[in-house]
Amino acid sequence: MPPRKFMGKVHQDPGEALAKGSREVMASIWEDYLAAVLQISATSGRFKILRRQIDAAAGFKEVFDNWNTLPLAARGAAWRRLMTAAGNRFKETKETCVRCGECCRLGSPTLLTHDLPRFQEEILTWNDVYTLRPGEQVTNREGTVEPLPEERLKVREVPGSRQCWFYLAATDSCRIYDNRPEQCRRQNCWSDPARPPAVAQLLTRQHLFAEVPEVWDLIKEHQERCDYRKVARALTDLAADREEASETLFEALHFDHYLRQLLISDWELTPAATELLLGRPVEAFLQTQGVIATLTPEGVFKLARQEETT
Ligand code: SF4
Ligand code: SF4
Repeated sequence: MPPRKFMGKVHQDPGEALAKGSREVMASIWEDYLAAVLQISATSGRFKILRRQIDAAAGFKEVFDNWNTLPLAARGAAWRRLMTAAGNRFKETKETCVRCGECCRLGSPTLLTHDLPRFQEEILTWNDVYTLRPGEQVTNREGTVEPLPEERLKVREVPGSRQCWFYLAATDSCRIYDNRPEQCRRQNCWSDPARPPAVAQLLTRQHLFAEVPEVWDLIKEHQERCDYRKVARALTDLAADREEASETLFEALHFDHYLRQLLISDWELTPAATELLLGRPVEAFLQTQGVIATLTPEGVFKLARQEETT
């Protein structure tokens, strides 16, 4: 009778299963064993990288290919070789980033004051980073959407995803790894998540531009006129039929829009760079509040509730 094909989890003593089982049984026990030794999920990027390295170091492919015809003693020796390779790699990488890129695919770093020199070295440019202004809707660690209490600068994400702008999916690599931001260096997927940085550690536009009055004065004026918190309050007032709030709202919307146009035409900035200087457009913020702002051919915004436009 031909050996039965292994179709799932091993439900017997692994020692006996290894002694008598097919190579599919051995491979399944190997995966479970590795996840236990490495103390990580077999579906994580870190596991996949470490498994590739351990398999190569221990000659797993050869063991797998020959397993069904290996005598019992040779199976034991091969299995011990696999276990030793797993234990060694675990010790070498226990508290080390193995550059699997998983955290890079799930988000981009918030910048800290440690990262200021990266701008002076032009590792980070105005086109790589954007500003999250206070009041912007963000998702916190618990997955709840809430207004951001203070300003943050963040590396851009690949449009339509959460993947960091510097991550190259084709080669699973970071374009600036040797000079990566501090928050990337603090990633420790092998342990409990790192504590969030203290507010005083956060890099802000003031750190970058306070010494450049032409830019800094403009940022301050824009923030004064286009503060998201003020815009959110104006929306609440409008919803309560306090029509005078529309002046605040339209002033923020027009000032923000035409200032960006000016920065692009006169300062020759890219739209991305305007998002470092001014954060994301007020139009985009309104959209997070369920309000669509449309520019008419006369150059004036009109507003509609999202549900009215669908
Ligand atoms: S820190 Fe990030 S890139 Fe490094 S091993 Fe962990 S998930 Fe992968
Ligand atoms: S800067 Fe590099 S290391 Fe940091 S999240 Fe982006 S791709 Fe990953």
